[in-house]
Amino acid sequence: MTTALVTGANKGIGLAIVKQLLDTGMTVYLGARDTERGEKAAADTGARFVQLDVTDQESVRRAAASLEHLDVLVNNAGVVGGGRAQEPGSVHLDDVRKAFETNVFGVITVIDAMLPLLRASEHGRIVNVSSITGSLTGMFAADDYPTAVGYSPSKTALNAVTLMYAKALKHTPIKVNVVCPGYCATDLNHHQGVRTPAQGARIAVEMATLGDDGPTGGFYDDNGVIAW
Ligand code: NAP
Repeated sequence: MTTALVTGANKGIGLAIVKQLLDTGMTVYLGARDTERGEKAAADTGARFVQLDVTDQESVRRAAASLEHLDVLVNNAGVVGGGRAQEPGSVHLDDVRKAFETNVFGVITVIDAMLPLLRASEHGRIVNVSSITGSLTGMFAADDYPTAVGYSPSKTALNAVTLMYAKALKHTPIKVNVVCPGYCATDLNHHQGVRTPAQGARIAVEMATLGDDGPTGGFYDDNGVIAW
């Protein structure tokens, strides 16, 4: 039986990833920082709840200790970093720090805590949920990308972190990839997105269920490879 953990999974794209992984027959742990919201989402879907705040090392350690087995880790939890300005010239540094705390340091914390479990699996998979707005190639050239000094660079850093783990784990069965779900209607963007969370979840699920001959160290969306 394949076992997966999805962080930040009580709503939005994370919840959709949980549902789609359950549909494949996996045992799925639904990670959420809030116990009430997490338990409700787990009960609604048939997943197992695990309390996990990615910015709280003790909660991540406890979550890892509570799992006996893990094959698939989806680092989905993410924040914009506060509602204040992230525009050059009027940046609230606290908001930038919040984005990096969750989107980068949180992912490193969770991967390191779960790595012993993933190493024990014969088919370990790590999927980091990033954003195309973190693409260095796109962020200057594409006028329709947001100019957000915290959020977008935090996703660029997450992409780089992904490559470090992919490289370190290159000679193991563990595959490490990073994905963009596309612009989905969720609380993160006040439901301005044009895709559904279910559509956004698809690429993460594809990378979570890669065969042993699948790629590692790549950045993907539904259209294929994204330029770094
Ligand atoms: P969302 O609806 O706001 O969901 C974010 C989830 O992350 C929530 O469950 C939230 O929990 C959780 N979370 C936040 N901080 C956390 C922490 N410290 N520990 C654990 N969980 C935490 O947003 P979403 O759109 O589904 O975003 C999911 C991922 O997709 C994010 O990484 C985001 O950057 C990425 N993404 C989204 C879009 C888009 O268009 N929506 C596009 C590109 C990338 P609470 O309910 O407790 O707040």
